[in-house]
Parts: sequence; C-alpha cells; structure tokens
Amino acid sequence: MSVSDPRKIIIFDTTLRDGEQSPGCSMHLGEKLDVAEALEKLGVDVIEAGFPASSEGEFKAVREIASVLKKSRVAALCRCKREDIDRGYEAVKDAVHPRLHIFLATSPIHLEYKLRIDEETCLVMIETHTRYARSLTDDVEFSFEDATRTPLPFLAKAAEAAVKGGATTLNFPDTVGYATPAEMEEMISFVRANVEGIDKVTVSVHCHNDLGMATANSLAAVRAGASQVECTVNGIGERAGNAALEEVVMALKTRKDTFGCRTDIDTKRIYPVSKLVSSIVGIKLPPNKAVVGRNAFVHESGIHQHGVLANRSTYEIMDPHEIGMPENELVLGKHSGKHAFEELLSEMGYSLTPEQAAAFFPKYKEIADRKKEVTRSDVDALLSGAFRRRVKRIYTLKDYEVTAYKNSASCAVSLEAEGKIHSERMTGDGPVDAAFKAINSLTGRNFKLMDYQLHSVSEGKDALGEATVKLVFPESGAMMTGKGVSTDVLEASLLAYINAANKLLQED
Ligand code: MN
Repeated sequence: MSVSDPRKIIIFDTTLRDGEQSPGCSMHLGEKLDVAEALEKLGVDVIEAGFPASSEGEFKAVREIASVLKKSRVAALCRCKREDIDRGYEAVKDAVHPRLHIFLATSPIHLEYKLRIDEETCLVMIETHTRYARSLTDDVEFSFEDATRTPLPFLAKAAEAAVKGGATTLNFPDTVGYATPAEMEEMISFVRANVEGIDKVTVSVHCHNDLGMATANSLAAVRAGASQVECTVNGIGERAGNAALEEVVMALKTRKDTFGCRTDIDTKRIYPVSKLVSSIVGIKLPPNKAVVGRNAFVHESGIHQHGVLANRSTYEIMDPHEIGMPENELVLGKHSGKHAFEELLSEMGYSLTPEQAAAFFPKYKEIADRKKEVTRSDVDALLSGAFRRRVKRIYTLKDYEVTAYKNSASCAVSLEAEGKIHSERMTGDGPVDAAFKAINSLTGRNFKLMDYQLHSVSEGKDALGEATVKLVFPESGAMMTGKGVSTDVLEASLLAYINAANKLLQED
C-alpha cells in the first residue's frame, strides 16, 4: 500500500442507533437531527439513524433524519424479517442515499438459544431477506451478529448467502467485545479469501469495547482489508460502548505510514462534534479520554513541558488544531462587543442564524458582567442549548426564591406556559429537592429524578455552574437529559430540570 495513494475507509457512524440505545443516552428528536447534521458536516459516509421497527417514535426519527441528510447515506437497522425490512424501507426511502441494514446472528450460541434455528435455516433466511431488501433498494448491508464467535467455515457460508442475495456491504461485528486484534485480522482475511464474490462488496467491522480493544480490533480489520468501520462519537454504545470514531479516524490519519488509508472526515470538526454529543447525552468524558479528553494535550511533567516548549513533536504526536481543539482558553471580557462574540462563535464552529446570535448576545453579556473573563467552555455551555432549537419550550423559568436551613428548605418557583405565569412553593430536604418538587407540582407530572450532576464549566469562584438532570416518566419509562447553565447553581439546576421536562412532554 503506498502512502501517496491511500485506500479510502468508509466511516459508518452509529451514534444515533447503537449509541442512542445505550443506558442514559436517549435523545430527543430535535437533538437527533442536530447530531445527524453535525455528522454529515463532519464527513461521515454512512449515518445509521435508528431501528425503525422498534417503535413509532424511532420510525418517525429515522424518517426525519432521512429527509434532512443530503450527502451522507442513511441506514435503517432491520431484523431479518420482512416486516422489519418494510418498515425500515418506509423510513429511509425518501433519503437521497438510503441503505437497509439487516442483521441475523450466526454464532452457535445465538442460533441455539436465542433464535432456535439450525444453520441451514439461517443461511436461507440470510439469502431470502437480502434479496427482498435488494428488490427495494440497491444499497443493502448484512451483519452477521456475533461473527467473532462464529466458526469461520460457517461464517464464510453465511457471507456467501448474503452475497448471493445481493448484499453490497458485509459487516462482521464483534458484538460482545470478545475478539483480539490477531483474531480480527484472521477473520477478515479468511472471509476475503474464502467467500466467492466478496471482492465486489464492501467488507465492514463493528467492534465493541468490553475488553478495551474496540479501536485496536477495528484497525486490525482494516489491515486485513476491511474498508468500512462502524463507530460512534466518544465511543458511546451498548455496555462498554463501540469503537470511538475520533480514535479510529485519528489513528488512520496519524499512522497513515503504517495503514496506508484515509477517510473523508474533516478532522477539525471532531472536537466540536464530540462536545455536542457529550453535552446532549449528558455524559462527561474522562479527562484522559484518547483524542478528545480534556487532558489529551496537557503536559504536566516538567521534563515534558520543557520538551514541548522546545519543539511540540517531542511529546505530541497530533496537533490539537487538527481535531479542532481550541488552544487558548481565555477569550472574551466584559468589554467585548457583539462583533467579537459573533466572530468567536463562527471560529468555534457554530453556525447560528443572525436571530439566534442576537438572542444569545444578552445572555453572553449577562455572564460577562457577572464574570470577568468569558471562556470558550462558558460559550460552549451557554450555547449547548442553542443547538437544540427544535426542542419547544413548553415551560420557561420566570422566577425563583429559596430559603434554606440545615436539612430543610423551601423554594418558590414561577414558570411561564402559554403566556401565563404559574407559581408554587414547596418544602424539601434541601433547596434543589424543594425546587424540583415545585416543578413537578406546577406541571402536574410525576417526573422521577434518575441522575443529577453539577460541574463547574471553568475555573475560579465566579465559574459558571452546569447542571445535568436525567428525568423519567415512571408510566412510560421514557428518559430525557436536561441541561442548565448559570453562575447560580440553583438556577442552573432549575433550568436543567425544566429542559428535561420539556423534552419528555413533547415525546408524550
Ligand atoms: Mn453494536
């Protein structure tokens, strides 16, 4: 493989399907659309939008995502069933580039205990359903669930059945995160050498991180000739998650010398997209997370600092600019005007309408007045809600007042809904408890608090507080994440609770 003519690797992102279905990661429709658009701008080739047959809401979300994406392919996941394929096709058929993605397990343990079918039936199901899907669209991916625990000779037969049925992409998932890099390489090499017609289709992998090997396994498959990698932003996904998009892409770019491959990802957008996803799902990244963690480019030891000052490449293998990570944290002050604010927004990769920028300027000014220095993190926190422009505000916080003693507090909250102001006072164990109870009473809903986190956005005693709240509707089990930002932590908490409540009420 020559470095001057690198092989293209297709990036298939499943943040909206595998990522979204993992615990605590559910997204509101508006948020899914924002993520989908951000992924398209990032240069993702295939976006898996969801699993349409799983619910009415999921079907609607996939159909809407399919209608906004122009460049990226939009994949719908379907079980190996005619009804699922019909439903999947219905959801993506109006996309510019639709893809049907069918899966069926092939490992002995899944065939025997989960599907209760024999190998022969499995092969027939693969071929028949692939052929049916191909009668609807010409882009069909088939996934052999639990491929890494499937004996290679049978896996090759399954692959052949899919090729005969007309599949255009064959995906070999390490569903349970069990394989080692050497085994991945062996599996991909085996199918490439033993399946008739495989040279005419795309070979793909989908790796899970149960043993921390998802990225290494994906790259091993690439070395063996796979040309599509399935991954998620920040590695979110079932259990320990999926291969992280940012790791796979930056490994291929940084080590082009050894892989001889390229992607069409605009790496400068990696950091903003990572921030967007982490903010929407309300999961903070560990500071030492590869590529996008807060400390990924921080040098603490004196020897390292000295080296970096003399020449960055002494201890840095990537340039933080390459992934769009801002170097300088300090940005604007109290006297910075509207123009500076707007320039910063576009430099940070936000594309706001003039109305949105105008609406945010007073909020920015308010923070600038309360704090001396406004940092990029502050602006990110402030705008994390702006992206979710499609989340309708049913309730808006108008006012609050709190009195607190040791272990007891009373909080009065005023909310506006449809032009009317409603107020309620409640008592609780503490101010946050009292405030949340008041909101439940005002909305007449029994929202249950599943998770509540408070972080400071930047450093210093005047730092902004960012609250993240996960709420569920006990009746339906639906869960949503809400966020709020303020220099006052109680206000941040109230805003977060109301934000989550507004989302749940729209899903209702
Ligand atoms: Mn998966």
